[in-house]
Amino acid sequence: MKTVTLGNTGITVNRNGFGALPIQRISVEEAGKLLRKAYDNGIRFFDTARAYSDSEYKIGQALADVRDDIIIATKTASTTVEGFWKDLETSLSMLKTDHVDIYQFHTPSFCPKPGDGTGLYEAMLEAKAQGKIRHIGITNHRLHVAREAVESGLYETLQFPFCYLASEKDIELVNLCKEKNVGFICMKALSGGLITRSDAAYAYLAQYENTLPIWGVQREKELDEFLSYNDNPPVMTDELAAFIEKEHESLAGDFCRGCGYCMPCPAGIEINQCARMSLMLRRAPSAAWLTPEWQAKMELIENCKHCGQCMKKCPYTLNTPELLRKNLEDYRTFLK
Ligand code: SF4
Ligand code: SF4
Repeated sequence: MKTVTLGNTGITVNRNGFGALPIQRISVEEAGKLLRKAYDNGIRFFDTARAYSDSEYKIGQALADVRDDIIIATKTASTTVEGFWKDLETSLSMLKTDHVDIYQFHTPSFCPKPGDGTGLYEAMLEAKAQGKIRHIGITNHRLHVAREAVESGLYETLQFPFCYLASEKDIELVNLCKEKNVGFICMKALSGGLITRSDAAYAYLAQYENTLPIWGVQREKELDEFLSYNDNPPVMTDELAAFIEKEHESLAGDFCRGCGYCMPCPAGIEINQCARMSLMLRRAPSAAWLTPEWQAKMELIENCKHCGQCMKKCPYTLNTPELLRKNLEDYRTFLK
């Protein structure tokens, strides 16, 4: 089993981390079965967030009896000190624990620092002093915020999107974390569903020994695939390298990563799926995206008010309304 140490936290875990966002979509019973199977097969790192509805509750229900044997990372998206404490207390209660191993600021638009007037970083320090959290982390999609956090020396871990579609700048960030001894947790290791070969995803990330991928798992079949890598970790081969190169070519340019930071949309458009529908239709079985339900969701694009909110919030500076329009045009050709 391959392991990774997260910077200077001293946390060493199996390279397969469990991303607990998707378990929101399944029942408590199904989630419990999945979490327990992951634990029984050596997965020790579980990443969740206050914002993932009942994900923390499900982890608490499934893993409270093995709490001391696992690492729990969760997040607060609060921008106030009051909200920070409320989130932390709720997380502790949902997770059935008295401490969180890594407490992360959830994609703030800036890098919280002591004395910046928000009081947020000071709250982290206080929570650490009280023993309610062990390590301070931050998650982000914005390269400049992520770099600032790593360079500040204030954060023990960074969670950032990293997969085989990474740019040179993303790779520089991973190397900067290594140099500064900051743990690097890879979010979107499957690029929100765009990457369909997990062996290629695993082998690519394994080349960066300081990274810990967290796989968003919702189905037992997906979990089994990652568990099989405990004993047989995929390594980079000429065939995989050629495949990744082809993927880079086919996904060159601007594409929607499905992160959802542009939402909510006042016209009710599910931007994070609709703006990448063309890719999804070609990379996964298309029938699931052509149902009457999805057709209705795609047609909502016609109601776009061109308010520009989504463009302002997109960390990849995409022209989202334009992207949506193109995706709708393409989608309609599939229906003919
Ligand atoms: S520009 Fe259109 S898609 Fe974007 S937030 Fe406004 S209404 Fe929604
Ligand atoms: S348009 Fe931008 S912010 Fe919205 S889901 Fe796609 S990548 Fe994320």
